[in-house]
Amino acid sequence: MDFNLTQEQRMIYEYGDRISKQFDHNYWRGYAEKNERPVELYQQITDDGFLGIMVPEAYGGAGQGMTEMLLFMEGLANNGIPLLNLVVGPTMTMGLLAKHASEDMKRRFLPGGCTGEIKFCFAITEPNAGSNSIEITSIAKSDGKGGFKLNGQKVFITDANCADYAMVVTRTTARADVKKKTDGFTIFMVDMKKKGISKTLIPIAFPVPETQWQVFFDDVELTEADVLGEVGKGFNILFDTLNPERIILSGLCTGVGRFALKRAVDYANDRKVFNNTPIGAYQGVQHPLAMARSEIEMASLMALKAAWAFDQGLPAGEFANMAKYAAAEAGIHAVDSAIQCFGGNGFTKEYGIYDLYGLVRLLRTAPLNREMVLNHIAEHVMGLPRSY
Ligand SMILES: Cc1cc2nc3c(=O)[nH]c(=O)nc-3n(C[C@H](O)[C@H](O)[C@H](O)COP(=O)(O)OP(=O)(O)OC[C@H]3O[C@@H](n4cnc5c(N)ncnc54)[C@H](O)[C@@H]3O)c2cc1C
Repeated sequence: MDFNLTQEQRMIYEYGDRISKQFDHNYWRGYAEKNERPVELYQQITDDGFLGIMVPEAYGGAGQGMTEMLLFMEGLANNGIPLLNLVVGPTMTMGLLAKHASEDMKRRFLPGGCTGEIKFCFAITEPNAGSNSIEITSIAKSDGKGGFKLNGQKVFITDANCADYAMVVTRTTARADVKKKTDGFTIFMVDMKKKGISKTLIPIAFPVPETQWQVFFDDVELTEADVLGEVGKGFNILFDTLNPERIILSGLCTGVGRFALKRAVDYANDRKVFNNTPIGAYQGVQHPLAMARSEIEMASLMALKAAWAFDQGLPAGEFANMAKYAAAEAGIHAVDSAIQCFGGNGFTKEYGIYDLYGLVRLLRTAPLNREMVLNHIAEHVMGLPRSY
C-alpha cells in the first residue's frame, strides 16, 4: 500500500493553492452571491487543461482518472473555491462519454468539452420520482425509424441555462412495459437549443454560483446518434456516472471543511476574550475543531479509496456511498464547528463562514440523501433486509 501521491497527482492537488492566489474565496463568493458562473476562473482552468482530466489524450484531455479529478476538486475546495459545475460537466458527463460513448460520439463531444466550447449538464431527477429514479416517467418514444420524441420534466438541473448539451437519463420503454425494473432506460445527449425545450429557474437559498433549473421536454426530436450506449440499457452504465458524482462531491465537502477549519484556526489563534488568552487555547474550542479535522481526513481517505476502485474497474459503489456519507457529515460538522468558533462573527457577511454551510448541508440531501446512502450500505454491504 502506498499513500504517496505521484508527482503529477500532487501538482493537480496543489493547483488549487496556486490558482487561489489569483481567484480566491472572495472572488468565488462574489459570483456565488450573484448566482453567476465565475467566468475568468473557468477560463483559467480551461486554459490550464483541467476540464478534460478524465478524457483520454486522443480526444484532447489529460488522460487521467477519477482519482485525479477528485484531487483537483479537493484542492480547489481546500482553498474555498468549490465548483459544482465540475461535477455535472467534466466528471459526470465527460467521464461517462469517455468511458462508454461510441467513437463518433466521443469525437462529437469530448474535444469541445475539453476546450470549454461545449458545456454540459446532467439530468436524471424528476419531480414525482425524486430519489426513486426507477420511477421516472419522462419518455423518449421511438418512431421505429431511428427517431425518438422526448417528453417529460426534470428538476434541479444544475447549470441547465449555460449547458449546450444535457446528458438526459430517460425511459424509452415505460416502467409498466418492462419485466425488469431497470430495463428500458436510455441515456441521450440532448442539444439544449432544440425545439420543445423550456426551463424555469429554481432559486436556491444559499450562495452558489451554479443555478438550478426545472427543464421541460415537449416532443423534443432525437435520433439514434444522440444515444449514449445502447437503447434500453442505460441503467447498466448509469453507476459509472453516479459513483463518480458521489466521489467528487466527497472531495468538495472535505475541501470546504478543511477551508472552514483553517479559517477557524486563524481566528481562534487571534481572538482573545478572557485573560488575554486566545480562544484557541481552550479545549472546548480545540476539540470540536480537532474532531472535525479527523473526520474530514477519514472521509478524504475513503473518497480516495472509492476513486482508486473506480479507476481500477473494481466495484466502487460501497466505497463511493461510504465516502459521500462520511464527507457530507464531516463537512457539516467542520463548518458548524467553525461557525461556533467565530462566535457572532460566524453569522456575518463580512466573515463569510456561514455562507459555506448551505453547500455542505446540501450534500447530506443530494445527490442521494443520507437515508438512501445508508439503506444501500445496510442492504448491499451488510446484508440487512431491504427497508423500503
Ligand atoms: C442544489 C441542487 C442541485 C442538484 N443538481 C442536480 C442535477 O444537476 N441533476 C439532477 O438530476 N438532480 C440534481 N439535484 C436533485 C437531487 O439529486 C435530489 O434533490 C435528491 O436526489 C433528493 O431527491 P428529492 O429532492 O426528490 O427527495 P425525495 O426523494 O423526495 O426524498 C425526500 C427525503 O425523504 C427521505 N427519504 C426518501 N426516501 C427514503 C427512504 N427510502 N428511506 C428513508 N428516507 C427516505 C430522505 O430524507 C430525503 O431527503 C440537485 C438538487 C439540489 C438541491
